[in-house]
Amino acid sequence: MDSKFSLFHHAAIIAPRSRHDDFLALKNQDPHLDFELYTLEEMEDLFAYQYDERALEEVYKEVGDEEQAEAILVALSRLRNEKEYASPKLEVLKPLQQRLLAEGLLYAIPNPERSFEHHNVVISGYQNTLRISNVLGELHNMAICYDTEEIPAKPLRIYFEFADIYDELRDVFNRIAADLASGTSIDDIYLLGADESYQDLLERFSLYYGCQVETTASAKLYDSALYHSFRADYLEKGPAILSDFLAKHPGDKNAEALYKLFARFSDLPHDEKTLKSFFDERLKHETQDAPHYERVVRQLHDYIPPKNAHVYAINCSMGVFPPVAPEGDYLSDSESASLGLPTSEDLTQEWAAEVNALFDSSALVYVSYKKKAFGGLFFPSGILEEKGFKAELSPILPYEYAQDGAKLFEASLRDDEVNYLRVDKRLKALKNRKLLLDYRNFDYTYHPFVSVNPDEPRSYSPTQLKKYYGCPYSYYLERILDIEENAPNFSARIGTIFHAVMQSLYQVSPFDFETAWDKAVAEESEKNGAFTPKENALFFRLKDECSYVVAFYQNHDSLLFDPRYSTEKPFHLVSEDNPLVSFSGQYDKIVEFGKEHRYYIIVDYKTGGERFSEEMLPYGLSMQLPYYAYYASQEKDLQGAELIGLFIGPVLSPTLVKKVKDSLEKFNSDKFRIEGVFAKDISKLLVLDPSAYKSTLIKGLAYSEKKGFYPYSLKRAKSPEDFAALAKSAKDLTLGADQKIRSGDFTIAPVKFKAIFDACAYCTFRDVCYRKDEAIRYLPDGKVEVDEDETSADEEEESDGLE
Ligand code: SF4
Repeated sequence: MDSKFSLFHHAAIIAPRSRHDDFLALKNQDPHLDFELYTLEEMEDLFAYQYDERALEEVYKEVGDEEQAEAILVALSRLRNEKEYASPKLEVLKPLQQRLLAEGLLYAIPNPERSFEHHNVVISGYQNTLRISNVLGELHNMAICYDTEEIPAKPLRIYFEFADIYDELRDVFNRIAADLASGTSIDDIYLLGADESYQDLLERFSLYYGCQVETTASAKLYDSALYHSFRADYLEKGPAILSDFLAKHPGDKNAEALYKLFARFSDLPHDEKTLKSFFDERLKHETQDAPHYERVVRQLHDYIPPKNAHVYAINCSMGVFPPVAPEGDYLSDSESASLGLPTSEDLTQEWAAEVNALFDSSALVYVSYKKKAFGGLFFPSGILEEKGFKAELSPILPYEYAQDGAKLFEASLRDDEVNYLRVDKRLKALKNRKLLLDYRNFDYTYHPFVSVNPDEPRSYSPTQLKKYYGCPYSYYLERILDIEENAPNFSARIGTIFHAVMQSLYQVSPFDFETAWDKAVAEESEKNGAFTPKENALFFRLKDECSYVVAFYQNHDSLLFDPRYSTEKPFHLVSEDNPLVSFSGQYDKIVEFGKEHRYYIIVDYKTGGERFSEEMLPYGLSMQLPYYAYYASQEKDLQGAELIGLFIGPVLSPTLVKKVKDSLEKFNSDKFRIEGVFAKDISKLLVLDPSAYKSTLIKGLAYSEKKGFYPYSLKRAKSPEDFAALAKSAKDLTLGADQKIRSGDFTIAPVKFKAIFDACAYCTFRDVCYRKDEAIRYLPDGKVEVDEDETSADEEEESDGLE
């Protein structure tokens, strides 16, 4: 036998579980070693009464509470019948103990002292040996000795302080990775101090650092759906379901654990409430089956590390290092003391001594503390100051072992470089590692996942087409996937009311504004819910505005010869070129009039600022009026009449400030003037508007016998061929969009047209859209025609002295 192991020959070694492997490893070197290993608790238990679950069942039947039953059994195992106890609670337990002893449910191990007498008793790791001497102190022929450890010449005296738990974990994981990389066996690395709050993060960090850290917090069986469904079944049908249950879940460890427990206690009386509470309490202590890892960084569950361990102590805060043991729920400290059980004070002192020894040992290689986590503040443990530890604040390591962590770090440095031209000196080294090959390189483009049936009839409206040409992807989301929510906002509801009043103006005879307004508001409230008091307050002003519009149109309509109005009429026109395509829509108003020749105009009311822009038309935007013109050109009722105007009719003016020199009447009539394109023939326009030389009906229309149309009017003046061309372009754009839609062209390509149009600005899909800035199509730049013309029109009118 090797003399250096003679101490352990024929020995009883009392050591924490974490050290047992160290001793068992000695048998590899000397197979003749014949020691026995015990933990302190196992050694104490040898001298107490033994029991198993049958005893638990008996006690549970007496008290009806599982947790209390377990605590009572601990007390019963230590209770001495011959001793007088000051606590009546303990005295009362004596008859129960006698009964259990008589029934064999409590029993003593014969002569436990023989395991120690005539043996070398070697104590390893434990700092406070009072509990050991309390049990073994009176035994004979026994040599007690200590497996001592040397205090290193330079124990660790620095701890790292971090702002939060994430920085702390990043640092400790990096250092553990570096330790492993230096050749330390993973079996020698231990993490200490990771309480419940760390467990979830430990799992996540393990993924990034390629070394698994054992996690201890796992869900209890009580929290499993399996238990609750099984319990309900069991309480209803009884133990007969047990074998079926196991057969239904082959190989399921949780099912096996449930089966074992329920089979073990199948004799318990079937009082549903009691049974429920019994099994619930039991399973609150049982953990669910968790995946098992072979190579893990283990956690140190007490403060005594194995020999040669590298202990990384994190969370070194007050209350954690050293911990404070609470007093028991069932047994008070004095009762525990009288039974020979350790009190909370004993345990606290024991742990303090162990932590103290650990902080002086060479096993401790790292200590950290975080100031904040999950909204809570932490303070460093007093032991750090007591032992003379110095703080190093937020250390920066010269390495990073997490592949993804380095990628994220590089991405943030690259963002800084690209966005702010700040170049971090670490960036070059990171780029050389070529970790981030796909920086800003994600594929944001649309890949179809629902196809459009190319043979299916499709119908289009100007609103849908504008959506498609504004951004094909938004059309796809709204029209192909049908994921639009249409909750009307207040301005949309105002639009509905104004349109309804304007419709009544031409369809109800005799027309009464008050009645039409009240009806429109009531119908809207009924359809989309009552207006709020604030919205109702706004209606005082809006109602006046609406009455001005009505007066404006009544005034101008009275000048028309034999007018015929068609309002709010839906249409559906199958294309002559492609029978699978239909033109649908609903125009606001077509007015036909004239004595010798019949003419018509098309008016679309707007409560917002949108106007017709010929410049935007080639891009499929602003095609509403040409679209109606195309429909009208196909409409039989209008065949004998000529189109002489396409107009937007502003019914709620965005201009609320009147020029000082203008009368209120002029201000009101100016702001409702219709805007758009009109015939290039003053004689035709005079039929529509006797004031056409300086029109009070059409914005931007002025004409003089000498000069003809003023330049700003000329741009808007159209020949019959021009009107036909506008209508044709709407038709072509519709057919063009249809072809693209059928071919599945739904690219993410929002349009920005100068300052006038931005597809994304009011897009309801903005929060789910993944477009990149590069996807935006900026349409040709130039001056904004509408605003410029408006200014020049007013200026020219004034300089010409036209009234
Ligand atoms: S947010 Fe812009 S890019 Fe995205 S769907 Fe809407 S319009 Fe298209």
